[in-house]
Amino acid sequence: MSRGWKDVDVQNYPGRVVVDLEAIASNVRTLDAGTTAQVMAVVKADAYGHGLVPASRAARAGGAAWLGAAQVSEALALRAAGDTGRILTWLYAPGAPLREAVEADIDVAIAAPWNVAALVDAARTAGRTARVQIKVDTGLGRNGVTPGQLPEVLDAAMRAQAEGAIAVVGVFSHFAFADAPAHPTVLAQAEEFARAVEAVERAGARLEVRHLANSAATVTNPGVHYDLVRPGIAVYGLSPVPELSSSAELGLVPAMTFESELAAVKPLPAGHGISYAHQYTTTEDTVMGLVPLGYADGVPRHCSGTDGQLGAPVRVGGRDLAIAGRVCMDQLVVDLGPGAHETEGECVELFGTGVGGGPTAQDWADAAGTISYEIVTRIGTRVPRSYLPVAAPASPERRAVPREAGAVLAETGTPVAEPRP
Ligand SMILES: *Cc1c(COP(=O)(O)O)cnc(C)c1O
Repeated sequence: MSRGWKDVDVQNYPGRVVVDLEAIASNVRTLDAGTTAQVMAVVKADAYGHGLVPASRAARAGGAAWLGAAQVSEALALRAAGDTGRILTWLYAPGAPLREAVEADIDVAIAAPWNVAALVDAARTAGRTARVQIKVDTGLGRNGVTPGQLPEVLDAAMRAQAEGAIAVVGVFSHFAFADAPAHPTVLAQAEEFARAVEAVERAGARLEVRHLANSAATVTNPGVHYDLVRPGIAVYGLSPVPELSSSAELGLVPAMTFESELAAVKPLPAGHGISYAHQYTTTEDTVMGLVPLGYADGVPRHCSGTDGQLGAPVRVGGRDLAIAGRVCMDQLVVDLGPGAHETEGECVELFGTGVGGGPTAQDWADAAGTISYEIVTRIGTRVPRSYLPVAAPASPERRAVPREAGAVLAETGTPVAEPRP
């Protein structure tokens, strides 16, 4: 198998993350094909651990008209890396580099009343109009202007717009239960959003974009796509609704593979405890394999095997095995079984694309009792990243069938809100 990382100098660490940028581009194409809206690829948190700049370029190559970043510094890093497209950022505290964001032509959210004056200030110092989008809290109870605060915010924003300091070009919101599309809050939030859009337009904003859908709503709820969808996890090929559909069923390909190689292989007799607190004991004369990665590398300690049960799945030399005993800071153990043929240096796939079988980040999330988002965003900084390139344009076999991303679940009769104005 020809692996791109073999060409890259990452052999000085016994583990690596390999990111398939073509998978990211292809996932964006798939999502784009499933909606009449434009796609904003959400690239916060170092593109969910996949590498901000390479992942963003791949998303652009796949057709992302917008990039979304939570932190202002992430948006500025995209501009510094040469991205010239539309970028939105929505989360900041007093003292954030808003002047720099306005100078860099980044759309900034008004997500709290104090944001208006801060953006007016930033615009004045920058000497140009700030392009802003109002983030409304339609029920999530997190970041955003509440419907109760909206009149006051609109009042201030419209005065600032009349003075030329800001231009209100968008309204957006975020779901609390998008991964449970039948939950009553989905419809309630969609209705609240429609009211907010109407209020902002009535106040005099000329809106370019209205947007509400994260990955889960992008693939389950075409009725809330509006002008833009904002998928994050789906861009990286992981299912936002693992209880309802796998990533393969959604036409998505996981982009991240986390690999290592065996550092030691040794025989152990039956009845031998493995790793701290002997949470696993060999049941027969066996061979154990030592993997030189641990929780400092982002292998969750919750992936440990405990009370004699095995932990998260791993693939060693093409065989599907699992973690035996506790995951430590720098290492973990796999019971390779009696007569195992693997030797030191054998490839260990902790998780990957799942395409030829093998564990995925979703399997790890299930084993650790968390969500795939946490698995991919928490790989340790000491683990080197390498990248498989985006395929040359119009390479037919890599240009995955543009499945309609929204179709899969929409067909299952999921209730769909109809607030499209
Ligand atoms: C993180 C985030 C998204 C993307 O969410 P996914 O579930 O990863 O698709 C979209 N919008 C906002 C405001 C976010 O914070």
